[in-house]
Amino acid sequence: MAASTLITVEDLARGPVRLDRVYARGELEARDPGLEAIGPIEAHAEARLAGPEVRIHLRFSGQVELICARCLALVVQPMAEDANLVYHPASELAPVQEMEIHAADSEVGFFARGIEMEELLRERVLLALPMRALCREGCPGLCPRCGQNLNDGPCACPDRGRDARWQPLAEYRARH
Ligand SMILES: [Zn+2]
Ligand SMILES: [Zn+2]
Repeated sequence: MAASTLITVEDLARGPVRLDRVYARGELEARDPGLEAIGPIEAHAEARLAGPEVRIHLRFSGQVELICARCLALVVQPMAEDANLVYHPASELAPVQEMEIHAADSEVGFFARGIEMEELLRERVLLALPMRALCREGCPGLCPRCGQNLNDGPCACPDRGRDARWQPLAEYRARH
């Protein structure tokens, strides 16, 4: 279904407009490295007119699956947002002013014909994605040499830590 969810000032003049969406796991895609899947995420947006402005209350909650940046384990992380966005008619602005406001405050936007609600929701979810995940604080990761997951215990690599003093211990471990 590709129905447009463009909300115009005329629509809003008749009353607030709500959009509720549930994104199934994997329905939203992003190419971030380390990102396994987005979702499920439940999202709600409500737009209303406030004078010449459009105000949108947006909230979503759900989860995202990431790959631990060190040991490659799957990490399921909650994500949520509750935000109030203000959109001004683009006709209010001179070009220079527009640039300054964009740089200063990302919660303020501009609209021409209207606001594409579905696209807005999608964008906000993608913006809220965590950049990087660790399965736990201080995850030791994988041994760069043998690939063993060091969360499972030390490996037997002789040059672990590039410190020769460890070598007898490592050899002992390899034999036992
Ligand atoms: Zn890890
Ligand atoms: Zn190793």
